[in-house]
Amino acid sequence: MKTLTILGATGSVGSQALDLVARNPGRWQVDALTANSDASGLAAAALASGARYAAIADPAAYPALKAALAGSPCESAAGPEAICEAARRPSDIVLTAIVGAAGLAPTLAAVERGATLAIANKETLVCAGPVVTSAAKVSGAVLLPVDSEHNAVFQVFDHARPDRIRKIILTASGGPFRCLSRAEMAQVTVADACKHPIWSMGAKISVDSATLMNKGLELIEAHHLFPVGIDRLDVIVHPQSVVHSMVEYIDGSVLAQLGTPDMRIPLAYAMAWPERIATPAARLDLASIARLEFEAPDLARFPALALAWDALRAGGSAPCILNAANEIAVAAFISGQVGFLDIDAIVAATLARVASGPVGSLDEVVEVDAAARAEARQQARERAR
Ligand code: NAD
Ligand code: MG
Repeated sequence: MKTLTILGATGSVGSQALDLVARNPGRWQVDALTANSDASGLAAAALASGARYAAIADPAAYPALKAALAGSPCESAAGPEAICEAARRPSDIVLTAIVGAAGLAPTLAAVERGATLAIANKETLVCAGPVVTSAAKVSGAVLLPVDSEHNAVFQVFDHARPDRIRKIILTASGGPFRCLSRAEMAQVTVADACKHPIWSMGAKISVDSATLMNKGLELIEAHHLFPVGIDRLDVIVHPQSVVHSMVEYIDGSVLAQLGTPDMRIPLAYAMAWPERIATPAARLDLASIARLEFEAPDLARFPALALAWDALRAGGSAPCILNAANEIAVAAFISGQVGFLDIDAIVAATLARVASGPVGSLDEVVEVDAAARAEARQQARERAR
């Protein structure tokens, strides 16, 4: 039996991981669970899973958490440091399912103690990839990708002979606005943006999928997880989301991982690694799907993807600025402050205004992240409707 900690246990990814835990009694003992402010959701998950430690980031939610766990053996704590404490506890596997750069400090805490990490929290790799991967080299931490594309690549990647790989090809569903013009995108609502044609996910990643920034973040994530060189990364739009990504080898062979769009498949792979376990995901029925389509991404209609490519090539703190600006822009869109097309405009303006440079430490990342957020907030105010 392995011990498991879930950072971001109340979200879309966290709750699907808990579903796997409940379906596999005896496989994982839940150690710690964390959430941002949903005290009742966190307490319910902790009681149902028999967790030993529950931490909530928002101190205002602590009294409710404490009350809900009264009489149970589950310890509780609050504040961002308590989330890092959860990550530091010696559990075998840490699933990072926090959304955004808020996952950075706890992820690094788990990496520094040499944990095995199942990483869903892509923003952490985007804003601090070199810091996280070099800390993992020092501590011996294992980084297992949960993001479906990276999990697919991980499954077909020749880890012993990476020099035989010619290309990593990430697939993108194209999101809900794949066929819309920019003029049509100007009119979309938050509800339209969150209605993903294939996947059911948290609000932030749903909006990222609609702008294609999600694929941009994933390019940067792939660069850190599979360092084959930026020129060997590629993106292709595949609306059916059956092929989750591919690796092309020097001989012309292309290996892919396919499956139904159910996050419990990549989650189970990462959480049970190096074993493979059964999941309740629907089986792939290719005859009924009948057709798999592919098309090149349209960078003119989806400039967020071009911005991410540029930030990846620029390196240093550019990906951190991109990510921070995007988090602010997406939050501004979700709150109704700005329109959909303002998202990439805010990110572009922030990248143009915040000076980028090398980032070698967590403190430097935190500083650049804060500067980019301040600039992006200003950009959002200027565009407020
Ligand atoms: P979500 O919004 O559903 O859940 C986010 C979780 O993070 C919640 O438990 C929330 O309480 C916690 N959280 C939010 N802000 C926090 C903060 N400041 N401090 C501490 N905890 C905080 O998000 P999600 O869709 O589950 O996505 C989680 C991560 O996984 C994201 O990085 C996302 O890009 C990635 N991901 C998600 C999916 C998916 O299918 N949902 C697929 C691939 C990758
Ligand atoms: Mg993905």
